[in-house]
Amino acid sequence: MDSKKKSYAINALRRASYRWPARGQVDKKQRVERGKYYCNICKAVFRKKDTQMDHVSSVIPVTGWDSFDGYIDRMFCDVAGFQRICKPCHLNKSQGENSTRKIFRDIKKENNKKVK
Ligand SMILES: [Zn+2]
Repeated sequence: MDSKKKSYAINALRRASYRWPARGQVDKKQRVERGKYYCNICKAVFRKKDTQMDHVSSVIPVTGWDSFDGYIDRMFCDVAGFQRICKPCHLNKSQGENSTRKIFRDIKKENNKKVK
């Protein structure tokens, strides 16, 4: 597929997911008091602006893109698939996932070389 089309569709789906009801249910669950939420990883309490909504298992697998069916399934998951976490925990989690992605990409690249 045209990569411009694909990234346009991915962004549109991501924006639509912000209104997915399960996200609101997670906020209700993790709200400590008005405007304050606990981080589901470190359990400390933060102002909402210092937290982010996170998919427990990443929407794009660390092994790489699979399909729109898989993407949509993971993006619009149920309450258990979401968590509100603080920015430092989110950064830490994302960096770990990105390093793993890079390792998978490098391995795939190496394997493709060997086939040719
Ligand atoms: Zn945290």
